[in-house]
Amino acid sequence: MMGDRDFRNIIHSAIGSIGKELEIEIDSKDIQTIHLQEVAQCLRRSYYDRIDPNEFERRGFNELLSGLLRKLQYGSEPKEFAIDDIKLKGQVDMLVDDSILLFRSAIGELETPQANDILYLNACMWIYDKVDGVIVYITGDRKETTFSLTRNKKMFEEIIRRVRVLNDLLKEQKTPILEPSSDCSNCQYYERCFMKKKLSKQMSLLGMLGMEKSD
Ligand code: SF4
Repeated sequence: MMGDRDFRNIIHSAIGSIGKELEIEIDSKDIQTIHLQEVAQCLRRSYYDRIDPNEFERRGFNELLSGLLRKLQYGSEPKEFAIDDIKLKGQVDMLVDDSILLFRSAIGELETPQANDILYLNACMWIYDKVDGVIVYITGDRKETTFSLTRNKKMFEEIIRRVRVLNDLLKEQKTPILEPSSDCSNCQYYERCFMKKKLSKQMSLLGMLGMEKSD
């Protein structure tokens, strides 16, 4: 008979494998193509994802919704936006009647949308040349919260700046600075960013007191 623990492991690995299938494919060597997801999130995280990645652990099936919709291409093909010799590549979850829709998972009902989701949605509106966009947050118990947005040029200029910064840092092989946010607690690089390695040297108490025997 299967125990509770086995079921949890099976579900965990199923979420992990489906999640991998649905991930946006990023060619880590092609630094002239920057993906919108990389610059909407912490640049340091995106840098590590390309240079020295750790696996990311997903929490539930609702986190897969956005990837599923993208994969099924609900009216949206990925699109590119040229920034000098760099290509910024984005993909929306859904295009309905000239409006862009994004779907995101949430732990509880939100009062305001997440900053990186607003950056992502706004940039999509410029890349796809649309003026309206909507973010739908869905919780594990199927509650929905919807926010609508009108596009903003200044915010898109900030994305363009971040594209250039990430491209430069990848060229120079320099790690971006920390961008502390609520995402850090769920980030696979938390330890790399916030825990210093202990410089411990094996020393005996006698050695420290200079009383060790010499043969
Ligand atoms: S822990 Fe925070 S600062 Fe470090 S890479 Fe992750 S999101 Fe960025």
